[in-house]
Amino acid sequence: MSFGHLKSSPSRRVAIVGAGAIGLSIGWRLAAAGCSVDIFDRGAAGQGATRAAGGMLAAAAEVEPAEDALVALCRRSQAMWADFAAELEAASGIDVELRREGTLVIALTADDLGKLRRTAELQQRLGIGTRWLPGGEVRRIEPYLSPRVSGALHCPDDHQVENRKVGAALARAYQAAGGRLHEHVAVEGIATTDGRVLGLRIGDGLHEADTVVVAAGAWSRGLGGLPDGLRPPVRPVKGQMLALRMPSGEPLLRHVLWTPGAYLIPRRDGRLLIGATVEERGFDENLTAGGLLSLLESAWRAVPGIEELPVEETWVGFRPGSRDDAPILGPGGIAGLVMATGHHRNGILLTPATAELVARHVLTGEVDPAMAPFGIDRFSRTR
Ligand SMILES: Cc1cc2nc3c(=O)[nH]c(=O)nc-3n(C[C@H](O)[C@H](O)[C@H](O)COP(=O)(O)OP(=O)(O)OC[C@H]3O[C@@H](n4cnc5c(N)ncnc54)[C@H](O)[C@@H]3O)c2cc1C
Repeated sequence: MSFGHLKSSPSRRVAIVGAGAIGLSIGWRLAAAGCSVDIFDRGAAGQGATRAAGGMLAAAAEVEPAEDALVALCRRSQAMWADFAAELEAASGIDVELRREGTLVIALTADDLGKLRRTAELQQRLGIGTRWLPGGEVRRIEPYLSPRVSGALHCPDDHQVENRKVGAALARAYQAAGGRLHEHVAVEGIATTDGRVLGLRIGDGLHEADTVVVAAGAWSRGLGGLPDGLRPPVRPVKGQMLALRMPSGEPLLRHVLWTPGAYLIPRRDGRLLIGATVEERGFDENLTAGGLLSLLESAWRAVPGIEELPVEETWVGFRPGSRDDAPILGPGGIAGLVMATGHHRNGILLTPATAELVARHVLTGEVDPAMAPFGIDRFSRTR
């Protein structure tokens, strides 16, 4: 996606808070369109939720009732991923490992089967193409699955990327396009005057900007300088995950696998990721025995062969969850302030569409109909 036809005047100064997938991808688009862009992160780029994620592009497997606008946005972004990955690889020289085997959502019990049928009906209603596979067929394509697997939904477009490489590639592509990246620089807050943004407060100083984009993930609500009513209602949703090491040249799985209580993601380098807990515990960074036990037990029921695999890594991350768990995109309620946060469990999936829609908004002031349902103003009725 190029914004060549929307070249910005070089004097347009954009400051972005947060160098995760969301801030970096927006910055990349804007720098390429000729804006003068500065991204600030209080840590190193790509080390927040962008590093902790599983990298699933799960527009079908994640589908839930009453989320039609979000499903449409997720599908739009999912359809953009192949071109986005190719463009990102060309711009950065980093292979982001887009794998296209798709996802299997399996059933182990009659109860699971009933739930899967309801998911399939919902997918059908929304025009999402998935295919039902009986147990024997599922085990033929994934032979390490438990004999108890009674069937699966194959979601052929729910691919995966190596999100850690996506973070690194975006940082490189952004800088190659002329963007400036300021790592280990914390932003205290947003400076405003007479109803418009002045820039960012950093230490005792002011970094001036015409436009400020809030892309600080789960920390977005904590930025100072905004009146209560304009602070994005985003909370951290804790997730614990782990990675096992599969025998070299002998992957236990090829597809991303969803089983009740966990998902399993085989990586090209031989890691098998297992995730993730969903916990309302603020910014609690502890790994817990119960969290890891429940993930491992759920994964083991589906793929008993994981029992012998070495544990390579465990980690905790914080999804940016908004009050209705949908992203907050577009005008921030003060002239020059733009929101790009609250991507919750789908921020990697939603990166290409978010970058496109938010960058276009910064360049033109336009609010695309695909972005309109996600404005921060939707919360003002219930605030
Ligand atoms: C366990 C887990 C599994 C997940 N799995 C998936 C998945 O499979 N697929 C998917 O699509 N999504 C997944 N997600 C969700 C996805 O990771 C997030 O939605 C996405 O990464 C959000 O990106 P972001 O750039 O908004 O936030 P982040 O990557 O968290 O970046 C925000 C950045 O802002 C910086 N920051 C915060 N405050 C300040 C400040 N005051 N000053 C300067 N910098 C600041 C932080 O240091 C951080 O680097 C998962 C998340 C978790 C936790």
